[in-house]
Amino acid sequence: MPSSEALVVTRDRLYKPVFNPETGKWVDQCPYEAYQRNRDPVECRCRAGTIISDKQGWKCHIKNKTHQIWITNYHRHVAEADQAVVEIKEFRVQNEKLSRERTRLVKKFKSDIAGKEEAITVLSLAHSKQVVECSKSSQLVDRYRVENKRQEQQITVLGDCYQKNQTGLDSQQREIDRLKRLLEKSNEKIRTLDDFQDALEQ
Ligand SMILES: [Zn+2]
Repeated sequence: MPSSEALVVTRDRLYKPVFNPETGKWVDQCPYEAYQRNRDPVECRCRAGTIISDKQGWKCHIKNKTHQIWITNYHRHVAEADQAVVEIKEFRVQNEKLSRERTRLVKKFKSDIAGKEEAITVLSLAHSKQVVECSKSSQLVDRYRVENKRQEQQITVLGDCYQKNQTGLDSQQREIDRLKRLLEKSNEKIRTLDDFQDALEQ
């Protein structure tokens, strides 16, 4: 018998007994035809690394106690395999469901993100407009400040003018008062002279 390490047995080259429906039992069947050439080796799973490569070897192997116990319990192995197939199917269904849910969520998230991006664009535009408005307002404030400063300077100049005029007016008023007093004195003298003239004429 060739060593197990020297052979690579694929899954479809596993030794399989056949089911006898009359007895309801699994029985051995030689994997090789009577005069078959080029016999591919098969692996019997009753014991790890058991390779059969010819009819003689098979005949010898099936008499093995371990193999006989294995074939007696073969239905159980098949049941387990069936269960595994069912579980795989369930996993596939579950996986399909999860995949659909994932697709749905990805679509939803993409839609949410698109909505948020749109909102951000709208807000950005509004913000840009406000920045421009703010800049305009700031320029206006600067202009008003300059205007205000100029007006303050004008007020100071006018104040100085007013002060100067007021001083002039005061001095003119004093001159007027002085002249009035002089006029009064002159009038008094004239009246005195008139009185004197009148007295002379009488
Ligand atoms: Zn075996």
